Amino acid sequence: MDSKNELSSYEKEIVDKVIHDGLSIRKASELAESQESAIRIRRNAVEKVMGIEFNQIQNYSIDITSVVQKNIENMIGVVQVPLGVAGPLKINGDHAQGSFYIPLATTEGALVASVNRGTSVITESNGTNVKIFKNEMTRAPVFKFKNLYEAKDFVDWLEKASSRELMKEKIKEVTRFGELVGIEPYILGNTVYVRFSFDTKDAMGMNMVTLATESIAELISEMFDVKIISLSGNMCTDKKPAAISSINGRGKTVVSEITISRETVVRKLKCTPEEMVEVNYRKNLLGSARAGSLGFNAHAANVVAALYIACGQDPAHVVEGSYCITTMDVDSHGNLYATVTMPAVSVGTVGGGTSVETQSDCLNLLGIEGGGQIPGNNSKKLAEIVTASVLAGEISLIGAQAAGHLAKAHAALGR
Ligand code: NAP
Repeated sequence: MDSKNELSSYEKEIVDKVIHDGLSIRKASELAESQESAIRIRRNAVEKVMGIEFNQIQNYSIDITSVVQKNIENMIGVVQVPLGVAGPLKINGDHAQGSFYIPLATTEGALVASVNRGTSVITESNGTNVKIFKNEMTRAPVFKFKNLYEAKDFVDWLEKASSRELMKEKIKEVTRFGELVGIEPYILGNTVYVRFSFDTKDAMGMNMVTLATESIAELISEMFDVKIISLSGNMCTDKKPAAISSINGRGKTVVSEITISRETVVRKLKCTPEEMVEVNYRKNLLGSARAGSLGFNAHAANVVAALYIACGQDPAHVVEGSYCITTMDVDSHGNLYATVTMPAVSVGTVGGGTSVETQSDCLNLLGIEGGGQIPGNNSKKLAEIVTASVLAGEISLIGAQAAGHLAKAHAALGR
């Protein structure tokens, strides 16, 4: 048995109390002498109560000291996700400049191979140009007023420059890096939702903006006779598909473009630009419209999920990552011009899961571990890399479908 799974006699006593005396897992953890011991006790207790034996989850190499404080409760082990790379991918961004190997953590066979094919086409075509158009993480609390007059007074107050200055000053009490950049009220009867937007620099920022919003809400409650129903009134909208984020953006709004010569399309993707445009039009645009989809793309979420998991991002933000719209046109020279527009890339290089050692290795591969020399530049670089990688995935999959290769590729890779 692995030493990580061997119980000391003291640990055995605690596990027995869980099994026979109904001691809760949480209370049992409190009796442990170290975090490693707590993990062992919880895992063994769960095994014994459920009558199973774990084969692998106890085998991990990451330092759990800060993980158990910041990233997980009731830890019993780790789940490992295979990690592959696609690349090199040439990116001509404002922050991501050069060639990158893209880390993708996934169990979906054929995904890395597909993105890899896209990176090869993009790199051969002199790289993708990428631009960030908006950079605002949002939190939208919900306020209930007694009547419409009071709601209107509040909305009028929000619109004053002096009020904005007060709120900007107030958030300095809780964050050094966060900056209030937008205030958008939405009225519904006597209820007011305020979509506050923040520049969160290198943090994805959800904790930061929640704390900042809480401090603004305190200020508002001192000035108005108002009930704060929730710090999140769901117009943020975090981790739920929502037209507001798809239209107005949330986190970073990023666009990536590429022109691929007809010769490269024919040689590498085994189809013509016209065939790819036709698939993109009828599938990504018309099909998605007919389905009422918020995502007009082939598989943006695949690439976003694999990159987010590899780089310690919040995987629930794949929801926002899926709003991507993919366009394809034939230009006047008969070449393929393709873009992806990602309205809501929510990424950071500090905070959240970014400091877990394996995830931080992946950020290091991209040259963006931790905060940027100019705060915000590392997270912008990551957002550009995510968007460029999504473009690679779109080109490869639409190319495969245009060439009728999709089923064959999966079959060849045994899936
Ligand atoms: P965080 O780890 O809570 O905070 C980031 C911290 O990094 C801040 O304290 C910030 O300090 C500091 N920091 C240091 N260098 C920085 C730099 N260069 N740029 C920006 N900040 C820098 O992370 P977060 O991004 O705010 O939140 C991410 C976590 O929130 C994830 O674990 C996610 O799962 C979780 N989450 C929370 C909610 C929620 O409602 N609370 C919702 C969704 C997700 P200052 O604050 O002093 O500037």
